[in-house]
Amino acid sequence: MADTIRSIRGMNDILPNTTPYWQAVESTLNEVLTAYGYQEIRFPIVEKTALFSRSIGEVTDIVEKEMYSFTDRNGDSLTLRPEGTAGCVRAAIQNGLLNQTQRLWYMGPMFRHERPQKGRYRQFHQMGVEAYGFKGPDIDAELIVMTSRLWKKLGLSGLTLQINSLGSTEARLAYRQTLVTYYEKNQALLDEDSQRRLHSNPLRILDSKNPAMQELNDKAPTLLDYLDDESKQDFDALRETLDSIGIEYEVNPRLVRGLDYYGKTVFEWVTDHLGSQGTVCAGGRYDSLVEQLGGRGATAIGFAIGLERLIALLETMNSLPEIENIDAYIVAVGDNAAKKALCLAEQLRDQIPGLKLITHCGGGSFKSQFKHADRSGARWSLILGDDEINQQVIGVKTMATGEQETVPWDALANYLQS
Ligand code: ATP
Ligand code: MG
Repeated sequence: MADTIRSIRGMNDILPNTTPYWQAVESTLNEVLTAYGYQEIRFPIVEKTALFSRSIGEVTDIVEKEMYSFTDRNGDSLTLRPEGTAGCVRAAIQNGLLNQTQRLWYMGPMFRHERPQKGRYRQFHQMGVEAYGFKGPDIDAELIVMTSRLWKKLGLSGLTLQINSLGSTEARLAYRQTLVTYYEKNQALLDEDSQRRLHSNPLRILDSKNPAMQELNDKAPTLLDYLDDESKQDFDALRETLDSIGIEYEVNPRLVRGLDYYGKTVFEWVTDHLGSQGTVCAGGRYDSLVEQLGGRGATAIGFAIGLERLIALLETMNSLPEIENIDAYIVAVGDNAAKKALCLAEQLRDQIPGLKLITHCGGGSFKSQFKHADRSGARWSLILGDDEINQQVIGVKTMATGEQETVPWDALANYLQS
């Protein structure tokens, strides 16, 4: 027998017993974003590798070690998108969307060669939002408020909002120097990752998930002391707006985000119900990226929600959306009944839009067909045999009670609707 081919580690099948939850979550997200005036954009899964290295940053984890890159048949280096922001900015520049403000959202798979574990996969899904051409901080607040409404709509509790400001590029550079000096003084206490980041990406050390690094990071100088005036004012205004709307938050001066393009406002929604992969939604302002990618400067801010983590959290909190069952399952025994069943089913579908109806296919005895009806979770079984065909009626069995009634064909739609 041939070997069976299995999926790639960290790339999961999402099976029919789970897809209804995905669909429900996706449609809630779509609904809320649409209500705030955000429009969907779809861009390719594969882009030129340079797009990601130039935007995310050469010395970030993603670009250094997580990208799925390959040479295509033309000899071009291409990469499976590890995130959506770069592709979205590329599409906005290329299609001239940045002549005016834009509120955009996207949804789809992302690819990173990380060590697979709970909440961390090699193919995962993000729903992301990007707003272009708004200086903030009003739009910063809008994005955060919108995420908060998403959680409310999903019936989700257990998420904490953390915010920080990364300041201007100049402020960050000054802070970076102070930070490097601080860590150099304590070099013996740095773990391997932090050693590596000390000169390439020292801010990211602050974000270390290693408990052994906690104390050192707690005592590190804080970026908030280095903020430029504009960033400070914007951050204060953001906080005031969140306060006035009643959105609770924690200021986390060690929140730095792992991608190079962020500046000023950054935020994350985190939970301690998912173990160590507790960030469900993350985002921030990236005012310099558009220009860096060759567009005429446009301010920008966005966030991305990790859908696997969001759905895992809903499951943990027992808040998965209710999935609607099938309404009816037609059981039909005998050739005539089987033909009539398909006919009647089409009539019902015309008469009752949205009706969820399965017609039994493949024949079999009443007993075996009822087993299928049972398993389908249908509210009613609709029963057709030779007797029913002769009398032009159908048996309607309410599955929960076992009660059965006989209904004429032409009264069936009314019966089911009442
Ligand atoms: P983390 O610190 O958890 O690695 P990140 O900073 O790399 O996250 P972003 O690139 O900002 O994350 O992505 C936004 C969100 O996408 C994350 O908060 C998370 O919910 C989700 N996410 C990121 N990487 C993965 C992954 N490998 N598997 C599943 N979800 C992921
Ligand atoms: Mg990561």
